[in-house]
Amino acid sequence: MLLQWEGKAILIDAGISARKLTTYLLERNVSPENLLGIFVTHEHSDHIAGIELLAKRFDTPVLCTEETRKVLSWLIDGVEYEVYKKEQSIEIEGLEIQAFSLPHDAADPVGYQIRYGEYAVSVITDLGAPTLDAVSAARTSDLVVIEANHDVDRLISGPYPWHLKKRIMSDRGHLSNLQAAQLISSALRPRPQQFWLAHLSKRNNTKTCARDTVLSYLNKLGISIDLYVTERDKPSLVWEPPLEPAVQLSLFGSPKQSEESMEPIIF
Ligand SMILES: [Zn+2]
Ligand SMILES: [Zn+2]
Repeated sequence: MLLQWEGKAILIDAGISARKLTTYLLERNVSPENLLGIFVTHEHSDHIAGIELLAKRFDTPVLCTEETRKVLSWLIDGVEYEVYKKEQSIEIEGLEIQAFSLPHDAADPVGYQIRYGEYAVSVITDLGAPTLDAVSAARTSDLVVIEANHDVDRLISGPYPWHLKKRIMSDRGHLSNLQAAQLISSALRPRPQQFWLAHLSKRNNTKTCARDTVLSYLNKLGISIDLYVTERDKPSLVWEPPLEPAVQLSLFGSPKQSEESMEPIIF
């Protein structure tokens, strides 16, 4: 996921090849050498595949917890690691980034909430079960990127070996479509929010299945939300913070743009 603001940019994870990433960054007018850092959620290959080449080639700092660094440095040597503590938020050029633990079978998996001015974005993927931290990050965010990994019936009747099915369904595995819906239903607030379903399994889910499951669960509760589904391994969605409500409602004078308007965020 790419975040852009005031001509600056960071990545959260880099799970596709450095070559593809470089192309996608340039398409968003980001020079890879200007990336301020790559924030890592955890060390699984679908989150780190492009880091080594990208970070070495462009001297990009790799930011993670100490536990993740220990494992990562076995896999990726010769890059600059910047270790942070989850208890403290990280300030980076006006952006405030808070990591929080997620239940997943990795060394020290985290989600992130990124704040800029009055806006916040949460990235909550790779978790086996909803947690209070995840719900509270989602509830205080304008954009929530949330895992909807699998449809349980497809997973159970699918081709994966049983031990892998058990791992995926465990509390340290991945969120099902239904679990994503449940998390979303506890994360709603009066201020507008947008939700992106992400990290869909290639074999055990489809975009339509994920979307329909979440929407029909919420429909039964009488809830409608602004929901989109991300593509795998390529940029597909862009979110920009809306104008401040006071500006949108202004009837007098010329509307002025928020001084803190963020540039597009892309997944
Ligand atoms: Zn993972
Ligand atoms: Zn993953």
